[in-house]
Amino acid sequence: DTFDAMGLKENLLRGIYAYGFEKPSAIQQRGIVPFCKGLDVIQQAQSGTGKTATFCSGILQQLDYDVVECQALVLAPTRELAQQIEKVMRALGDYLGVKVHACVGGTSVREDQRILSAGVHVVVGTPGRVFDMLRRQSLRPDFIKMFVLDEADEMLSRGFKDQIYDIFQLLPPKIQVGVFSATMPPEALEITRKFMNKPVRILV
Ligand code: AMP
Repeated sequence: DTFDAMGLKENLLRGIYAYGFEKPSAIQQRGIVPFCKGLDVIQQAQSGTGKTATFCSGILQQLDYDVVECQALVLAPTRELAQQIEKVMRALGDYLGVKVHACVGGTSVREDQRILSAGVHVVVGTPGRVFDMLRRQSLRPDFIKMFVLDEADEMLSRGFKDQIYDIFQLLPPKIQVGVFSATMPPEALEITRKFMNKPVRILV
């Protein structure tokens, strides 16, 4: 039950320790390794459990840093949460040279387009702006291999269901999916049934 024992890249471990984490939380102990193996994971966990670092580590471990194309897409219910995730991803991936961008409403569309065309490895965003970037072909889905829904229940209760489904339609067919949700209402279960392949379930 240490970060060292998880088989993570040296420069990811450096980022984790530099961020100030010493020992993995319960969800990190159970969730990081399956995610790093490329498995679909459903993690039922409240915020405060360390879920952000769980999927950030899983993504950072699997990116191909030589390919500056969006390979991972994370959706979150609010701008603030998306920007918070962006910060954590950037900090943990500091020694790996990760390029992350947050695509959220209320910011300049042109600036998003400029940053995306310059090249990123990871996009974190709210469903509306992310769908807009995909629709405009400013975000190209071809290289995306990991898709994470953070606070899925919260996104659904904010009415993002159709946009989440629309985004799914535009992604490559065989991608890894991670769903993080404090609760599992029927609509969240439907998402896991429709889009996930033999998911590992982790309850903390
Ligand atoms: P989250 O559930 O991702 O919102 O994280 C909740 C809080 O716990 C954040 O302030 C994290 O920085 C902190 N945290 C997450 N993982 C760890 C860890 N392994 N050690 C210490 N603090 C952590």
